[in-house]
Amino acid sequence: MIQSKGYAAQDKTAPLTPFHFERRDPGPKDVVVDIEFCGICHSDLHQVRDEWGGSMYPMVPGHEIVGKVAAVGSDVTKFKVGDAAAVGVTVETCMVCENCKAGAEPYCLKGMVGTYNAKTYEGEPTYGGYSNNIVAPEHYVHTISSKLDAAAVAPLLCAGITTWSPLRHWGVGPGKRVGIVGLGGLGHMGLKFAHALGAETALFTTSAGKAEDARRLGADEVVISKDADAMMKHKGRFDFVLDCVSAPHDLNEYLNLLRLDGVLCQVGLPEEPLPVSAFSLITNRHSLSGSMIGGMQETQEMLDYCAEKNIVADIEMTSVNDLESAYERMLKGDVKYRFVIDLKTLA
Ligand code: NAP
Ligand code: ZN
Repeated sequence: MIQSKGYAAQDKTAPLTPFHFERRDPGPKDVVVDIEFCGICHSDLHQVRDEWGGSMYPMVPGHEIVGKVAAVGSDVTKFKVGDAAAVGVTVETCMVCENCKAGAEPYCLKGMVGTYNAKTYEGEPTYGGYSNNIVAPEHYVHTISSKLDAAAVAPLLCAGITTWSPLRHWGVGPGKRVGIVGLGGLGHMGLKFAHALGAETALFTTSAGKAEDARRLGADEVVISKDADAMMKHKGRFDFVLDCVSAPHDLNEYLNLLRLDGVLCQVGLPEEPLPVSAFSLITNRHSLSGSMIGGMQETQEMLDYCAEKNIVADIEMTSVNDLESAYERMLKGDVKYRFVIDLKTLA
């Protein structure tokens, strides 16, 4: 077994503390990655604090992982020792169901196994990227370009693909008017991608202080969502709205932004149900949808697109010693715009 060290939550109220554990020795298809950087996703906080229910402890969070390949199994073809590599939210799927075969692994019919807070099909707990290494099958390990800052690539593995996938699925591009709701880790990647794909893009934010950054990140317009008059002015104007908000909020306000046949896609995952008025749906024949991370091939396509267009996340570096303050700042919406843990401080 591989000896690993990381930071784990022992229960839903405890702060993350040092944790020693073992990972499996690499099988023929596995890649061992020595982790250099891991982003802090709001999903880490939701799960550490058991806001969605069913959390498993001890929990080593982290699914925005970048590092260097330390070992490869005999069947591995994409990687050799020393290569840069990245792991996201998924580490196992059945690979044979219709969704897996269609490259939609997050929707695996047997159930996708998360990088942490999950059990493999063999019943072993999975531990994430707030740690010094990880073992994953090659299928779930991505190549990354050396042209980009590795630390700033890490958030692409969740915040990046979670916004890229729905923007691509719903055909966002030139001639489309797109709204991004919430300027956090997901929202700032959504803005960058919608802008890069050529859409006219507006940010809806509760934080007036983020307006200038939003314009720099790609917003053509910034709307303060607490301003009812400003929201009213945008009623019925949008083809697609991507809701990246982590806390309970009124979805009807965002459905009302849509034009005929417009789509509101929910990617944020507040712990409470979000009530929807039937009138907000029938007006303009609106659709309400959701989307979960993205498939392995589309994740690689997104990473390759980022390398070509020089797109990375805007990050603030932090360390394993500052996880609690990072969580508190994330809860306040006070991150520009993703924390990334330097795991070299764990060595
Ligand atoms: P984050 O960095 O904390 O950003 C969330 C943003 O939501 C905040 O910056 C804030 O933006 C806005 N917000 C927060 N509280 C709000 C409130 N009470 N009312 C209105 N807006 C509020 O979080 P994240 O990492 O981007 O994650 C966002 C959500 O997506 C989380 O729930 C996470 O679990 C989920 N997620 C889903 C998937 C998926 O596959 N679907 C993948 C990853 C994450 P403003 O200051 O601009 O208002
Ligand atoms: Zn995430």
